[in-house]
Amino acid sequence: MPAHTLTLSHTHTHTHSDINSSLSEASWPSGTECVAKYNFQGSTEQDLPFCKGDLLTIIGVTKDPNWYKAKNSVGREGMIPANYVQKREGVKSGGKLSLMPWFHGKITREQAERLLYPPETGLFLARESTNYPGDYTLCVSCDGKVEHYRIIYHDGKLSIDEEEYFDNLMQLVEHYTKDADGLCTRLIKPKLMEGTVAAQDEFSRSGWAMNRKDLKLIQTIGKGEFGDVMVGDYRGTKVAVKCIKHDATAQAFLAEASVMTQLRHTNLVQLLGVIVEERGSLFIVTEYMAKGSLVDYLRSRGRTVLGGECLLKFSLDVCEAMEYLEANNFVHRDLAARNVLVSDDNIAKVSDFGLTKEASSTQDTAKLPVKWTSPEALREKKFSTKSDVWSYGVLLWEIYSFGRVPYPRIPLKEVVPRVEKGYKMEAPDGCPAAVYDLMKQCWTLDPAGRPSFRLLREKLQHIRAKELHL
Ligand code: AMP
Repeated sequence: MPAHTLTLSHTHTHTHSDINSSLSEASWPSGTECVAKYNFQGSTEQDLPFCKGDLLTIIGVTKDPNWYKAKNSVGREGMIPANYVQKREGVKSGGKLSLMPWFHGKITREQAERLLYPPETGLFLARESTNYPGDYTLCVSCDGKVEHYRIIYHDGKLSIDEEEYFDNLMQLVEHYTKDADGLCTRLIKPKLMEGTVAAQDEFSRSGWAMNRKDLKLIQTIGKGEFGDVMVGDYRGTKVAVKCIKHDATAQAFLAEASVMTQLRHTNLVQLLGVIVEERGSLFIVTEYMAKGSLVDYLRSRGRTVLGGECLLKFSLDVCEAMEYLEANNFVHRDLAARNVLVSDDNIAKVSDFGLTKEASSTQDTAKLPVKWTSPEALREKKFSTKSDVWSYGVLLWEIYSFGRVPYPRIPLKEVVPRVEKGYKMEAPDGCPAAVYDLMKQCWTLDPAGRPSFRLLREKLQHIRAKELHL
């Protein structure tokens, strides 16, 4: 990519003794993740060459603030120029991210005209039509006045001129951004709705946007509720890609992706990057978990293959991820064996952050998985780390019963009333008493009486040490 390859003239003579352990305030601390903005060939032995898009981790500062010591993804270390890389940050404005920040919903013609003032040819927004409910209106500033184009909705397609049809507003906007095609001007600058941030801009700013050209989609490996999960190749690395064809649901996935930018733990499925296409497709790229979901893994291998040590290891893996979420004030809300994936080297990692929110928010209870959700969350939408602890108890039960569906032989509608009266599942066959005891503690009706993930992790480690006769 010669257009992006900057040549840097430098006369640095850095040595290991340059690595300064006292960090200045402006510098990036050790462990900071960066993405390369340009190719860097390096000119001395000590330099670490990289290509645009590579992920690098800072491991030390030097006396020269323009250079860092860094490590690449295969562990090679060397010096890198600070201005060639961009720091990766967590996206904090998840709720405000939008694929259509120029869509202002139900506003009137007059409000639209006020928003497009002062005039600027090509400034545009879209709104719901007030005169024709169900249709939309595209409002464009042109030579000092605002034109309002009716977008008709017919047979699932959108059109302004009834010649060109689009599946959604984003495709329509993309088309008229390239070419006026009969409008007074092409669309040049979106008028953003107050309080929204263009998703693409935010992922680019924070260093999480990936280049579509670097991603090859290979084959479908799973069907999620809202789109396919595919295995792909991103610059030589096997990756999993959640492909969300745009519609209203993509918004929820933006929130999932933004939560994932803030989390990093060996036992959480790691986000690698996000691609927001102009036509509205969203790709969420994560590490590839070769052995699929934990529930399928347990069912297919069963008791004959999986020993107690292995079950305990899965329980600990998940518990460690949850301890990390607990410490960082994130509530998962949908913890279950189907949402835990297993890597090639048998590490269990928690995934599906679709419902994960920073602690103390509420949500719609209609779609909740009844058998995994704590009574207070079902009843009063009270989600907390303690409701995750309840679900973790159910997940432990799933692990020790090799993927059975919880509350066997109890009709679904009887589960909640019985649980509320204090009913607890029996220990799965062969489950160690100490592990069953933890399950029961997780199912304490009073959330305050449940153990923390930290305590659960300590107890599980203790059980493991005993089993291994350490
Ligand atoms: P989800 O929509 O996240 O529930 O994913 C649906 C299915 O796709 C899962 O049950 C897995 O079988 C598969 N899947 C999802 N994410 C990954 C991943 N990172 N690696 C491998 N398979 C995955």
